[in-house]
Amino acid sequence: MKYRSTRGQTDELPFMDAILTGQAPDGGLFLPSELPDFSDKLDSWRDLSYTELAFEIMSVFANDIPQDDLKEIIEKAYSTFRDDEITPLAPAGKNLILELFHGPTLAFKDVALQFLGRLFDYILEQRDLKLNILAATSGDTGSAAIYGLKDSERVHVFVMHPHNRTSKIQAMQMCTVNQKNIHNIAVEGSFDDCQGMMKDIFNQLDFKKQYDLGAVNSVNWGRLLAQTVYYFYAYFRATENNQQKLSFSVPTGNFGDIFAGYLAAKMGLPIKKLYLATNENDVLCRAFDTGIYKKGTVHHSVSPSMDIQLASNFERYLFYSCGQDATKLRSLMEEFKAKGELHYDISCELIEAKRCDTETTLATIKNYSEENDYVLDPHTATGVHVADLLAPDEQIVCLATAHSGKFPESIKLACGEVIGNHPILDALSEDDMKYQVADAHTETIKSIIVKTLEEA
Ligand SMILES: *Cc1c(COP(=O)(O)O)cnc(C)c1O
Repeated sequence: MKYRSTRGQTDELPFMDAILTGQAPDGGLFLPSELPDFSDKLDSWRDLSYTELAFEIMSVFANDIPQDDLKEIIEKAYSTFRDDEITPLAPAGKNLILELFHGPTLAFKDVALQFLGRLFDYILEQRDLKLNILAATSGDTGSAAIYGLKDSERVHVFVMHPHNRTSKIQAMQMCTVNQKNIHNIAVEGSFDDCQGMMKDIFNQLDFKKQYDLGAVNSVNWGRLLAQTVYYFYAYFRATENNQQKLSFSVPTGNFGDIFAGYLAAKMGLPIKKLYLATNENDVLCRAFDTGIYKKGTVHHSVSPSMDIQLASNFERYLFYSCGQDATKLRSLMEEFKAKGELHYDISCELIEAKRCDTETTLATIKNYSEENDYVLDPHTATGVHVADLLAPDEQIVCLATAHSGKFPESIKLACGEVIGNHPILDALSEDDMKYQVADAHTETIKSIIVKTLEEA
């Protein structure tokens, strides 16, 4: 299978090259040139284990990797999960909670980054290459990337997080991994500063090339591919036969997770609705209501991983909504760059979007804990609220993107006390933290990268 850029000005690449490249050189994002139709596979897939199913799906997309090697990559990736089902379903009230947080860092990003880590190892070994990952994080991506890559011999990981502005647990998760290839940079600035510097550095193509810089944010196709698997898996567990239709609710920030569901539907999974939930940062809700995608200012909420005003994967969705016309997509993105907004065709039956503000998020956590004895994390709670609002009489699969134990401050705000914590998080200690503080200047970050790699 070949991968093309949404902006149509990059040559098509095989899977492994698209993974290593991350963002396409023309500024676009990679998508398969053609999506497979899995409709007539569903019957034979219903009873597969998670990793067997992952192999069936991924082998179609990663057909430049020998099958036995791909199997081993998948097995290794998911051997770090603490639940045999990898992504089990838990009933809570009328809904089924799809628990995506049984990986090492207790958030759904592990599902993709454990896989991407093993995949990078494999490709780099095959090609005798090295890679230096630069990431900016508001919390969850950083720790998932660190845990996905900490044992990779050919990879160094530089993670910038805003100093003293992530949650304490998130900072401890990132900064207590004491491995030679992991470098935490606490930036005296905001998450936007970190992200801005990352983009700056990636745009300096000579520097990027000289230091073999790569990215693990959700523009990487490998992350989306790994995430389509749990939509299929959950469907088979939640339904009795393949004629049934099923709806999902998805807490959304960068539009990566929900886009994986959109792809699953396009590949023949009988999805009825995808309910898109945002917090106060509702740029996507407004887009799906009005057909105008317009950036606003970031509000800090109790679901910080969704405090995003620029959903990078939305470009992939737009590409399909323009009838896969790269020229049209390019002109939309130019319109956005020039005016800070773009207008597109919203006729989408599949996705319905609603926002859930902080007050409602906290109330949902409290209600679910009291009525269903289930503690939702604040991100998951936004999706559960939207599912209950838009489909009050229907069983919905609600994606649980993090374990409640990661956000004790919010759980206390909601319930009056900290409940639903996790022993792995309780065992973290501030004394073990290792990081360097840096000012928010691109040159400072570049010199840290250069110096670290010289000394490595
Ligand atoms: C990253 C993240 C999200 C948002 O996912 P997107 O793919 O960016 O839409 C939601 N919840 C949690 C806990 C996350 O870490």
